[in-house]
Order: sequence, then C-alpha cells, then structure tokens
Amino acid sequence: MSDPVLDLQGVTKAYNAGKPGEVTVLRGVDLSVQRGEVVALVAPSGAGKSTLLHIAGLLDTPDAGHVRIAGEEMTGRGDARRTAVRRADVGFIYQFHHLLPEFTAQENIVLPQLANGVGQAAAGDRALTLLETVGVAGRATHRPAALSGGEQQRVAFCRALANGPALLLADEPTGNLDPATSDQVFDALMTLVRDTGLAAVIATHNLDLAARMDRQIRLENGLLV
Ligand code: ADP
Repeated sequence: MSDPVLDLQGVTKAYNAGKPGEVTVLRGVDLSVQRGEVVALVAPSGAGKSTLLHIAGLLDTPDAGHVRIAGEEMTGRGDARRTAVRRADVGFIYQFHHLLPEFTAQENIVLPQLANGVGQAAAGDRALTLLETVGVAGRATHRPAALSGGEQQRVAFCRALANGPALLLADEPTGNLDPATSDQVFDALMTLVRDTGLAAVIATHNLDLAARMDRQIRLENGLLV
C-alpha cells in the first residue's frame, strides 16, 4: 500500500508550556488517513480539534511527534518547505467561508490557482467545473455578498480544492448553516471529495453527518479514541 496521505504519530501540544495557565491539548495523537478515506473528527468544543487540524495542515507545529504528508516527514522542516507542501497538498475549510468580498465566486477559486502558477484560462475553466460539481455554476459571477450562506460555503469548498490537494482538512464546515442547508451543503462537499478521491478529516459536532463518513474518531482528554 502507498504511504498514507496524512500520518500523525505521537503528536503532543500544550499552550503556555511550563507557565501558569498551561493547557495540554494533545497528549500523543496517532492518526493515519489513506487516499480516498473520509474521517469524521468528533469532539466537544475546546477539546482540541482546531489545534489538531492546524498541526495536520502545517499551520502549527507539535511539541513532539511526527507529521508526515504523503510520506514526507515534515517535523523539523523549514518554513519554505512547509509552506510549499501546504500550498500544493493541503486544502482547508473553515466554519466561515472567508471568501474575498471584492472578487466573484469564480475569481475566488481562480486566485489560488494563479498563485500556484496555473494560467488564467485553465484556472477559470477549472473554477467553473468545480462550481458545477457543487451546483452553483449559475452564481459564478456573483460576489460573496450576493450569495446565500450555503452558496458561500460551497464556493469556499471549491476554493479549498482549486489546486487539487491530496488532503482536505475541514473545521466544522457546515457549523454555521441551518440544519436543512447543512445537509445539502454536506452532500455537495462529499460529492467533491468522492470525485477527487482525496483524503479528508472533517471536524463536526453533527453525529448524523459523522455517521456518513468512512470512519469516526473522537478526541478525548488529548487522545484519539
Ligand atoms: P476546539 O477546536 O476543539 O474547540 P481548540 O483546539 O481551539 O479546540 O482549543 C483547545 C484548547 O486549547 C482550549 O482549551 C483552548 O482554550 C486552548 N487554546 C487554543 N489555542 C490557544 C492559544 N493560542 N493559547 C492558549 N490556549 C489555547
């Protein structure tokens, strides 16, 4: 079998280490996610989901342990290499869309591709294809303010996948939507993920959504169970 897309071993993290107010968040997390596998990360607020996702996505570093992306050991690598791997291999989705307000839906998906060296025409075509997959191609020329919450989040999914990452990390991606919209938007996300065969870790409080993923893991007292 090929290397897991994401491989965490013995990851620990504490904030304010050695000081008053020290918070130990991760106590030795092991997690492997294969290509095509969608993992639900379920935990109460404050349990450390964001910390775990940020370490997995190379936005933060663990105090100890290993982070491997597509077989490459990232622990101890310099900022330039970590940034390059994050840009090429990792897509992030947050609870809020964080789209750029002065650009259209399509442009928001084009921009990260231009930053990655893709030509304007190819980037535009790819943006439209992604928007079609999630059912909002008809809104391609709208700015975020003219989109509904569900549409904004679908566009954010497309942006996260614009450069064809191997790994998708999502932090409560439908947490800001009403239940009916949340279900539909989650369907759109799963279609994108299954179409591309990427590995995904999706944090959610919603146990119904978690049950639709391939595997559920819970973060309790700093460990995955
Ligand atoms: P979740 O995403 O599950 O809500 P977080 O990973 O955001 O949890 O936070 C886990 C714990 O770490 C919380 O107790 C939070 O208050 C604490 N924490 C998060 N970031 C910091 C920080 N930069 N400094 C100090 N404590 C932090």
